[in-house]
Amino acid sequence: MNPFSYVAAKEPGSAIAALAANEGGGTACMIAGGTNLIDLMKQGVMHPTRLVDINALPMAAIEPMVDGGLRLGALARNSETAYHPDVRQSYPLVSAAILSGASPQLRNMASNGGNVLQRTRCQYFYDVAVACNKREPGSGCPAIGGLNRYHAILGASPGCIAVHPSDFCVALAALDATVVVQSAGEERRVAFADVHRLPGDRPHMDTTIASDELIVAIELPANSARFANHSAYIKIRDRASYAFALVSVAAGLDIGDDGRIESARVALGGVAHKPWRIEAAEELLQREMPNDEAYERCAARLLEGAVGQGQNDFKISMALRAIVRALQTAAAGTRIDTANPGRPDLAARE
Ligand code: SF4
Repeated sequence: MNPFSYVAAKEPGSAIAALAANEGGGTACMIAGGTNLIDLMKQGVMHPTRLVDINALPMAAIEPMVDGGLRLGALARNSETAYHPDVRQSYPLVSAAILSGASPQLRNMASNGGNVLQRTRCQYFYDVAVACNKREPGSGCPAIGGLNRYHAILGASPGCIAVHPSDFCVALAALDATVVVQSAGEERRVAFADVHRLPGDRPHMDTTIASDELIVAIELPANSARFANHSAYIKIRDRASYAFALVSVAAGLDIGDDGRIESARVALGGVAHKPWRIEAAEELLQREMPNDEAYERCAARLLEGAVGQGQNDFKISMALRAIVRALQTAAAGTRIDTANPGRPDLAARE
């Protein structure tokens, strides 16, 4: 690991200033839970010359907003968020997605903001002995034609076929979350769909958030609580726990008194460089009675243009079936473990 200086920031302004004013032309990075950054530093993938510790900043609250939405502090830990009663009641999709990811120890450390900014788990990205356009622009992409079981089937480019690894972000995309970002000049709000990028010819840029900007909160709109009674997060992976998704689906249905679907949300994880969502696919479910044929039409639209990379060709048919299953599960009603109300029914999320 390279030497680095350490600054413990006391308030957002000093954290942003410390990020911008790294002496010697080095790279400054924020650290909160450190569950991804420390791995990247130990592997030699990232070598910041300054770490700005933001754990003391007042950004850990989870609180209702005046318009009825819910504001998740960027420093609230993933576990706190998943088990928070307001999240469980109004946005159980968020709770289910978080609890399907990582391990209890990691969820206890990982912050909400850090989860959004975590980097791909492409094995070549972590191996500094080989080329990787994301780590070293212009060097090549050995995953194309190489080991690509976990890689993208949608939105990839000739420069990079990596996927975003988060489960939390898939639920946030489905629920139209907003990310609140602070910089030296201003505070700005970014629609979740615009936070992560497709790789294009700049795969080294994961997000639209600059390195000297601070995520202060993630806001869930009041309007998205209408999916609370009919939501499901389905995650398919190689191991039952502590594994990244091959394919995941966050689904929410708003079902009216007449039994028809008023509106739907479907987002995919494990298939692209960002959570994958197509509003035109969701519109295919509007005013339909819940039924498999409509789910299949929605799935086919979501997966339009999907292309396998060889080892991951199976993901296309797997994703199609997972979307249908997630919508079937959501239509049947959100499953909550009533015997243990403090903890969601983990088995039901598998
Ligand atoms: Fe690097 Fe992306 Fe290729 Fe993986 S898929 S080796 S992250 S360029």
